[in-house]
Amino acid sequence: MSRELTETQLLGMWEGGIGQAPSVRALLLAAAAAPPGEEVADLTLADLNELLLELREESFGPALPCATECPGCDEPLEVSVATDELRTCTRQSTPGPRPCPSATLVAEGYEVTYRALTGRDLLGVDAASPDARRTLLSRCVVGVEPAVQVLPDVVLEELAQRLAELDPGADTVLPLTCPHCRHGWTAALDVAGHVWAEVEGYARRLLHEVHALARGYGWSESDVLTVSPARRRFYLEAMAG
Ligand SMILES: [Zn+2]
Repeated sequence: MSRELTETQLLGMWEGGIGQAPSVRALLLAAAAAPPGEEVADLTLADLNELLLELREESFGPALPCATECPGCDEPLEVSVATDELRTCTRQSTPGPRPCPSATLVAEGYEVTYRALTGRDLLGVDAASPDARRTLLSRCVVGVEPAVQVLPDVVLEELAQRLAELDPGADTVLPLTCPHCRHGWTAALDVAGHVWAEVEGYARRLLHEVHALARGYGWSESDVLTVSPARRRFYLEAMAG
């Protein structure tokens, strides 16, 4: 199944994400890439990232342009990242959601059963709240022995480390080397934020084209969207010339 977005789908998705939290936008994108009927909110963060990478490849290609700054010498750095470099695990090919992976951690006298974070956990936490990280980590705790209301921070931090092992691919990190000073570091890349910015840029360019062609030729929005990008370019150039 091709997960390439049609321009009409892309516009609808962009419109649905206006003013929404990044987690809502991430799930909108993942839903567009998922098999029909799959409840993406229940997927782990690694599975969500995999869907986003597939969507990115099908709709915009496998090379992501990234701009950053070297922490060693402050030089601006522009790199092209292949989606495969961000892919540390392969999504399960079995149809439908797999059981959320879980494990047990023994630390500071507590036995903590925990599961991987899902999209629903992100939706349930206000990312702007100062307690966001603690709330998010607490959500993946399934059970604690002996029972306790609030786990110590040191246990939650240990849990954060273990979550990365339980769901490899939940965090997408990129090894980078500065061509000026040879400094090497790893940078976290927010795949959903990156793809959303591209969707937004595409939608805005597309609406400008609709506007220009509607004004120039009297076409409706749906008329314009049935014309291929190559033909639209021709008509826009013809109007300008
Ligand atoms: Zn440098």
